[in-house]
Amino acid sequence: MVSFFPLAPPLITALMGAAVGSFLNVVTWRLPRQESILWPSSHCPRCGTTLAWWDNVPVLSWLLLRGRCRYCKAPISSRYPLVESACALLWLITLLAQPAAMGPAPDPLLLMLAGWTLVSWMIPLVLIDLDSLWLPEPLCRWGLVTGLVVTALLGFQQVRRSVVRCCFPICWRRRWGSWGSSSAAPWPPAPSANRPSDWAMPSWPP
Ligand SMILES: [Zn+2]
Repeated sequence: MVSFFPLAPPLITALMGAAVGSFLNVVTWRLPRQESILWPSSHCPRCGTTLAWWDNVPVLSWLLLRGRCRYCKAPISSRYPLVESACALLWLITLLAQPAAMGPAPDPLLLMLAGWTLVSWMIPLVLIDLDSLWLPEPLCRWGLVTGLVVTALLGFQQVRRSVVRCCFPICWRRRWGSWGSSSAAPWPPAPSANRPSDWAMPSWPP
């Protein structure tokens, strides 16, 4: 009989990753619109109904609802369960890959938390960039700070190198005024015209 215990850490990690992925869907939708990422709770933009927790279970709710709002049957983009699944997978890879892939570290748990933070931080950056060819400055700025703090806490020797690398985008921002363009970009940015249609900004939940 196979013991459940060895499967518990990866299972719990995948569930936590999927839950974080669900939150990152909200971040990806609300941050470019200057909306709070904490309030109000998720609701259907068509009928306005606040979603119950059982309508927000990562991946499972989308499958059970067959990709539609329970109340008004508005379609729910398949990007939501895909992002939740991808986040769960990345968290799982981080769990299974560390710490051997990174070499000896003073604190393997902190290293794993840093890995989870990194992959979680990258997901909204990638998605918002895909949607609008734009990187939100708060995510970039606090990403730099978090990276430096974690590097220092881990006691790695490359803290000085990390500081130099952080200075590059800051100098870029000061010199050219934006992350991705030589001219001041409108904010919030207009959706990209060449964006693939199947990755169009989903409209549910906000
Ligand atoms: Zn609805």
